[in-house]
Amino acid sequence: MLPIERQKQIVTWLENEGTLRVSNISKRLGVSEMTIYRDIKPLIEQKKVFKTANGVTLARENLLSPDHCTYCHKPATSRQSVKIIKLNQQVEQTCCPHCGLLRYKDIENKVSQIICQDFLKDTTISAKMATFLLNPDINLNCCQPQVIVLDSIKNAKQFQLGFGGDIYHFEGAITAIKEKMSGEPCCHSNK
Ligand SMILES: [Zn+2]
Ligand SMILES: [Zn+2]
Repeated sequence: MLPIERQKQIVTWLENEGTLRVSNISKRLGVSEMTIYRDIKPLIEQKKVFKTANGVTLARENLLSPDHCTYCHKPATSRQSVKIIKLNQQVEQTCCPHCGLLRYKDIENKVSQIICQDFLKDTTISAKMATFLLNPDINLNCCQPQVIVLDSIKNAKQFQLGFGGDIYHFEGAITAIKEKMSGEPCCHSNK
């Protein structure tokens, strides 16, 4: 195997598994630890991976700004923010459910959980169990089309009576956001 092939393989493992010990990588690839250190040195220089007490880990895309939306890069500190926990235990944050759902769709096969806050209460819910209200008549000051998360159809319907909007479940909400944006770059353009 060429060094470049080993580097690719190492990055793939790190993407799926998070952190790996150098000794473990060396065993898997059947080369010395010295060789592994040489392989990962350029990756470290390119800031693709970094060394931790336990071995090497993949640099997070959001390492420089953990409080920013991984989808549109706006600050993601409000209670509307959505957490996406990936299979490798990395946690991503998005500014609002709009970005949360779109980001989820982009990295779907790497996601373990997607968690959001009920709009009315301070409870967290799995997005897959939640009800979404699209484009209610209320200004949330975030991304368009706006998305509100509610923990039940009943609450969503009550909210809809007051503020309008359309009710969707998880997958339906993603499709509807994409349709409403019809290929527009959304929040990306005005960051
Ligand atoms: Zn965002
Ligand atoms: Zn947003």
